[in-house]
Amino acid sequence: MRENKSYFGKFGGQFIPETAMFAVEELEKAANEILNTKEFTDEFEYLLKEYVGRPTPLYHAKNLSSHYGHEIYLKREDLNHTGAHKINNALGQTLLAKKMGKKKVIAETGAGQHGVATATAAALLGLECDVYMGEVDAKRQELNKFRMKLLGANVVEITDGLKTLKEATTAAIQAWVNEIESVFYVIGSVVGPHPYPKIIKHFQSIIGKETKSQLNEKNIKADYIIACVGGGSNALGIFSEFIDDESVNLIGVEAGGLGIDTKYHAATISKGRPGILHGMKTIVLQDDYGRILPVHSISAGLDYPGIGPEHAHLSEIKRVLYKAVTDDDAINALKLLTLKEGIIPAIESSHALAYLEKLCPTLDKKSTIVVNVSGRGDKDMDTVMNYKKGTIYG
Ligand SMILES: *Cc1c(COP(=O)(O)O)cnc(C)c1O
Repeated sequence: MRENKSYFGKFGGQFIPETAMFAVEELEKAANEILNTKEFTDEFEYLLKEYVGRPTPLYHAKNLSSHYGHEIYLKREDLNHTGAHKINNALGQTLLAKKMGKKKVIAETGAGQHGVATATAAALLGLECDVYMGEVDAKRQELNKFRMKLLGANVVEITDGLKTLKEATTAAIQAWVNEIESVFYVIGSVVGPHPYPKIIKHFQSIIGKETKSQLNEKNIKADYIIACVGGGSNALGIFSEFIDDESVNLIGVEAGGLGIDTKYHAATISKGRPGILHGMKTIVLQDDYGRILPVHSISAGLDYPGIGPEHAHLSEIKRVLYKAVTDDDAINALKLLTLKEGIIPAIESSHALAYLEKLCPTLDKKSTIVVNVSGRGDKDMDTVMNYKKGTIYG
């Protein structure tokens, strides 16, 4: 029997080849020994403050608040160095890799955001870095590919299958197994085999810790916290400090693509079933044979057919509500925030913002709502500019 500590309810576990067992055991041992030492936490906190630019503000969006008739606060993860929450985790894992004596980190990437964050951390901490990226993604995201190379990383383009994130992840896992003694695999979201989901939540929980103390400082109480969900790391990061407080409603927003009743979405919890993907038991989008379905979202960061196992559990016990919004909804929300507040959010984050449109009219009393703005939209300007001009939808 596997020990329960690797599970969240019935989700999680370590569904990996025997050859990778050594690496996850080594990682778990190192995490237990290193992560909570004063030396590690002091160094990590120093980097978060002086390098990443934390704490990020909890900003009262007054114009958006009067638009919706509720008090809306934005957790500004878009203001982090490199433009999103991903650096919190990439820096944490790369620092852990260094303490473990590893010489090289590897990472998978879709749009290139996690690849850039990992390449950044590797440059800072002096480690080698290989980033696995599907050939199609590498073409779509040439600028990020260049950015990673400029940061000194080696970008490995994958030509299997659909040549996107799922294949890149599979290739990264293979590369990790091949060089397991010297390489540390930096996973980009709260996914993968135990102990990854716990380690990544640990690094991202800074978002929730800051939010909680910022709410206390402002002497306000959140009724709702909303975050977008790809693999689920920014959401779990902000939710983590509030899960035990049942008076705070937590909402995860998935990518509904062209609509969850079409074939073109990435709404894993809304439409998926239990299955196994990338070393974990979780909810996955699959066909009747258990084959992973292709996914679609306008936001590359949400375009994933699985979800972190803890989210699968939080959904099952109904502690977090998971909803989906469409590409259209997200683009409209991006435009609204930009016009009202002068903040251009990432299209991923715009999914969380878009849910305000659905939630606010249903509330019978004035409520306080925190939205996690997981990243900035600069990377998405091409997509927004060309939206529905025929370049995205063929
Ligand atoms: C990658 C990314 C996401 C999705 O990842 P999670 O692990 O679900 O947080 C969301 N927002 C931005 C800006 C991203 O870059």
